[in-house]
Amino acid sequence: MKDADITPILQKSLDGQDLTVTEIEALLAAEDQNSVARLFEAARTVKTQYFGNKVFLYGFVYFSTHCRNNCSFCFYRSSNTDSVRYRKTDDEILELATSLEDSGVHVIDLTMGEDPLIHNDNHYNRLTDLVKMVNNAVDIPLMVSPGAIPERLFPVLMENGADWIACYQETHNMELFKKLRPDQDYEFRLNQKKWADKYGLLAEEGIMIGVGESVKDRADSIDTMRGLNVNQVRAMSFVPQENTPMSVNSPSPFIEELKAIAVMRLVHPKNLIPASLDVEGVAGLKTRLAAGANVITSIIPPRKGLAGVAQHELDIDDGGRSVEQIEAILDDINVKIADKYEYINLIESWKNSKKAGVSL
Ligand code: SF4
Repeated sequence: MKDADITPILQKSLDGQDLTVTEIEALLAAEDQNSVARLFEAARTVKTQYFGNKVFLYGFVYFSTHCRNNCSFCFYRSSNTDSVRYRKTDDEILELATSLEDSGVHVIDLTMGEDPLIHNDNHYNRLTDLVKMVNNAVDIPLMVSPGAIPERLFPVLMENGADWIACYQETHNMELFKKLRPDQDYEFRLNQKKWADKYGLLAEEGIMIGVGESVKDRADSIDTMRGLNVNQVRAMSFVPQENTPMSVNSPSPFIEELKAIAVMRLVHPKNLIPASLDVEGVAGLKTRLAAGANVITSIIPPRKGLAGVAQHELDIDDGGRSVEQIEAILDDINVKIADKYEYINLIESWKNSKKAGVSL
C-alpha cells in the first residue's frame, strides 16, 4: 500500500466521518514506513482531540488462575499442568486492591480464569460477594473480568459495585474462534458485551493479533465492535506460551498490534484504548501510546505473588509494572496521568448516557 492510497482515508477519518470496512482494512494493510507513520500521526491527532495528553491507569488483580476452559493460546488453559495456579484469599485481594488504589490507579481490574469453583450456578455468589467487598474497600471504579457468565449476573454485579465488564472475543471469525476457544459458545461470549450494555455496565471488547487471523478479519472485528456499543477496545499481540498447542506458532510482530491500535483510535475515537504492559512490559509503553492508546493496563504491585495474563512473569516482581516506573516514562514523553475525578466523571457520563438510552 503506497502513501497515496491511504491519504483520503486518513483525511476522511480526521474529518469525523465513519470508515467502511474496506477502508479499515486498507489502513491495517499499510506497510510502507511513511504510510504507517502517517497512520500513527492521525491516531495521535484524534486522541489529543478527545483526551489531550492524559492517560488513565488500570491496576490488575488476577485473583484466581484456575480455569475450566482450554483456550489454545493460553498458559492458564485447564490441561496445562505446568501453569501457575492460585486463588487469592479475601484478605490478600483487599490488600492488593487498596495498595493499587493508594498507588494512584484509576480502576481496579478484578480478573479470574473461569474458575470451576466460581463458575457454577450455585457458586456465583463468591464472585458477586467479592466485587461487593472490594467496592466497599476502595473509592475508585471497578472492572470485572470473570469470563463468560449468565445474563442474570449482570444487574447483580452492577448493584454490587462493578462499573465495567471485560470479556474478549479475541476474533470475530467464528471458525477461528472455535480453534482458539474450543468448546466455547461464540454467541454466548459476544452476548457478554450486549448484556453489559443492556444493564448499564460499561464493556471492553478485544482482539488478539497474530493468532491466524487475516487483515480482513481484523477489520471485521474493529467494525463489529462499533455495533456492540463498548467503551473500551483493545488489541494485544499473541505471545506463544509453553505447553500450549500454539507454543510453536511464531510470535506476531508488534507493529501489527500498533497498527490495530491506531486504526481502532480512528474508528472508535472517543473510546478508551489500552496499552497493555502484558506484551512487552514497560519497554513497549511509548510505542503503544504513540499509536493512539490512552489507558495503561496490567499495572501490578511487585512481590505479591501475582501473575499476568499473556506473560505470567514479565516485569512484575522487579516493580517494572508499578505506577512509579510508569510515571518516570510518561515524564519523558510529556504525557500526564489524569486526575482521579476526570476518569470518574468520564465513565459516569457514559453510564448516564446508557441509562438515557443514548448511543455514543
Ligand atoms: S483465556 Fe481465559 S478462559 Fe481461556 S483458558 Fe485462559 S484463562 Fe481460561
